[in-house]
Amino acid sequence: MSKIGITRSIDNLGRIVIPKEYRDILKINEGDTMNINLDKHILTMEKIETSCMFCGSTAELIEFENRQICNRCCNKFLSKVLIRE
Ligand SMILES: [Zn+2]
Repeated sequence: MSKIGITRSIDNLGRIVIPKEYRDILKINEGDTMNINLDKHILTMEKIETSCMFCGSTAELIEFENRQICNRCCNKFLSKVLIRE
């Protein structure tokens, strides 16, 4: 992804609105949990996945490469991979 920038002001409570364009790209929705990190003078945010990246289920999640996959989707994926071999 190429680097893009939008300027926003912080309100009197320290809040800032994440631009809709960014929320759409990153599939950030109301109620999602964000991890906010400070590295020297650079603030970064990362969405914490709390549901399966494929079906949206919140049951029996397995974390892989910082993504959540439910047990059902994981088994579906594995059965397709194992059938090929
Ligand atoms: Zn799933």
